[in-house]
Amino acid sequence: RIVYLNGAFLPENEAHISIFDRGFLFGDGIYEVTAVLDGKLVDSDLHMTRLKRSVREIGGELPISTDEIVAIERKLIAENALNEGVVYLQYTRGAEDRDFLYSEDLPPTLLLFTQQKTIAHAASAEKGIRVKTVPDQRWARRDIKSICLLPQVMAKRTAKAEGCGEAWMLDGDYVTEGASSTAYVMTRDGRIITRGNSQVTLPGCTRLAILDLAREADLKIEERPFTLEEAMDAQEIFLTSASNFIAPIVEVDGQAIGTGEPGPVYRRLRQLYIEHARKTAI
Ligand code: PLP
Repeated sequence: RIVYLNGAFLPENEAHISIFDRGFLFGDGIYEVTAVLDGKLVDSDLHMTRLKRSVREIGGELPISTDEIVAIERKLIAENALNEGVVYLQYTRGAEDRDFLYSEDLPPTLLLFTQQKTIAHAASAEKGIRVKTVPDQRWARRDIKSICLLPQVMAKRTAKAEGCGEAWMLDGDYVTEGASSTAYVMTRDGRIITRGNSQVTLPGCTRLAILDLAREADLKIEERPFTLEEAMDAQEIFLTSASNFIAPIVEVDGQAIGTGEPGPVYRRLRQLYIEHARKTAI
């Protein structure tokens, strides 16, 4: 695989990062994941906008423009002949002798690589995903796409131990989001509920696109927190993320949701999203 590191395209085994990189020592960095479908970037503008925001919120500065980043992503897709999968981008504050404070002129580390993954025909899109709930033990600025993912790693491990494919994070009775996805419930009278954006969750790029498509399809949307009880009583539940698009959740903590099968509203939204992705990918 060819990867990009600080201005150079290199074979992955020749790309090296300092042991003093602040991403490694402090988790002082942010990341972004963009889906690739038919060799093209999906919702690239949304991901570049969120990238700029994450970097700004940690007081950093991108070393190159987002147009240049998109050009690098496209070159990586071509070099690696990637048809479907993701492009991962990581920005860290850079490398220098260990100290909480850093030099203002420290050059950041910018790393990008591709990963092959089946998305459009993923088995989970038909089979559905089982969810396990866990307490949300993350920090208070979840709107920043921080590389500090230990709570999510632990949550996913707990979920997997129970045969579940995703963990839902709970703040008291309320669901904040999935460990790596935005959470939605659809009530028995057809209202789609998902949290509004705030510092409590990551503002999902797929969420933005899906909500636009749902509105265009005249579906009713409520942006507000929802409880685990509302989820258990829902007609359908689903999740969205760049690397899954939209996927159905068929079980929460061992209890079947709705019919226990992927529902019609999910199927419609998935079809609309894939059409949108194929039409607008660059
Ligand atoms: N919420 C969290 C905590 C995530 O990690 C992710 C994606 O990884 C999402 C939501 C979904 O965001 P997006 O649709 O931009 O991939």
